[in-house]
Amino acid sequence: MNLNEIIALDKKYFMNTFGDRTPVAFSYGRGMYLYSTDGAGYLDFLGGIAVSSLGHSHPGLVDAISEQSRNMIHCSNLYYIENQALLAQEICMSSCADKVFFSNSGAEANEGAIKLARLYHRKKGSLDKYEIITLEDSFHGRTLATIAATGQPKYNLPFSPLTPKFKSVPMNDLGALEKAVDGNTCAIMLEPIQGESGVNPATYEYIKGVRDICDKNDILLIFDEVQCGMGRTGKLYGYMHYDVEPDIFTLAKALGGGFPIGALCAKDFVASAFEPGDHGSTFGGNPLACAAGLAVFRAYRDEKLVEKGAETGAYIFSLLDSLKEKHDVISDVRGSGLMIGMTFNKDIAVEVKARMFDRKILIGSVKKSIIRLLPPLVVKKEHADILIRELDSVLSGITGSKIQ
Ligand SMILES: *Cc1c(COP(=O)(O)O)cnc(C)c1O
Repeated sequence: MNLNEIIALDKKYFMNTFGDRTPVAFSYGRGMYLYSTDGAGYLDFLGGIAVSSLGHSHPGLVDAISEQSRNMIHCSNLYYIENQALLAQEICMSSCADKVFFSNSGAEANEGAIKLARLYHRKKGSLDKYEIITLEDSFHGRTLATIAATGQPKYNLPFSPLTPKFKSVPMNDLGALEKAVDGNTCAIMLEPIQGESGVNPATYEYIKGVRDICDKNDILLIFDEVQCGMGRTGKLYGYMHYDVEPDIFTLAKALGGGFPIGALCAKDFVASAFEPGDHGSTFGGNPLACAAGLAVFRAYRDEKLVEKGAETGAYIFSLLDSLKEKHDVISDVRGSGLMIGMTFNKDIAVEVKARMFDRKILIGSVKKSIIRLLPPLVVKKEHADILIRELDSVLSGITGSKIQ
């Protein structure tokens, strides 16, 4: 099918949740590039929104999925699953977690985290500790509980009445958090670096303070690392930037390199609240998804992708800082590793994204004035040079402020 035929079919049969999408359909990808149905190559600085960390069609991932699918795609959790046990081991050996449960998405991993936190207090006899405090501008998913957790009215107000006992407070404001905590507080759930609202990092002092508040009040600390985990920020997990350990954290997005899988990860003292029958999943932790996750960890190790991503990320930040010097329209460059946000002081983000698309480079925009870069961890300096060259030219074209 050509692009227009695909668009016509989509408009006729697919629910209009994504509106008018960027007018392209990709038929295959290789490394940092996606190729459209008409054969054009696009440099991918969005990585499927922090999913395709190995780049596209990584041979190790492709082989692992092909081989596993030839042997066995699905097997019920009524039986032991080798890949599931091995992937759980990978996560525990590389993090502060002692136990893992696999889901099929980020929202579903967060649902599990919320259930586990409530059950932990219930089984300790604290029946009134059920409220979860989250942050404003957060994003935790699209299910009914996770939209209630998401501190952005645009995601949850249309679906009220919301799942009760969630409230959100501003980020980097320990006073507001202290005020919100009471005898009903069960857990604080946050993204160490907020993704969907435009790459907003929590400060070091804030996260330290949050950990203290949790310890003093018998509150669980949950990190939603669905986006900032898996090497995205230059360390394998986002919490590693803060010298604290969460009691529970969740992963998804890059965990399967594009194959759907999420993980609920916890320390033993919390994880043990889940006893047989308390939680479950038909597809979660199936042999195929876990083969993908294992291939991701293998590639990270063999190709030193976290270290390389951190290095290229630092290079991109240095180039963006120079670009900021040159273009007054850039007001802020922030983030960590390969999780990068850039704010303009004019509402030009959508136009910048569109013009970059015309130049065959994929980036993301958030609201009207922020662009977001989440390239695969395999991105190289030569790709960054292309990105910056084109961004420079696009910004000069929009603002007419070319200063040489
Ligand atoms: C993407 C995202 C989710 C939701 O993940 P899904 O797989 O779409 O359910 C949750 N939390 C954060 C921080 C995310 O970035």
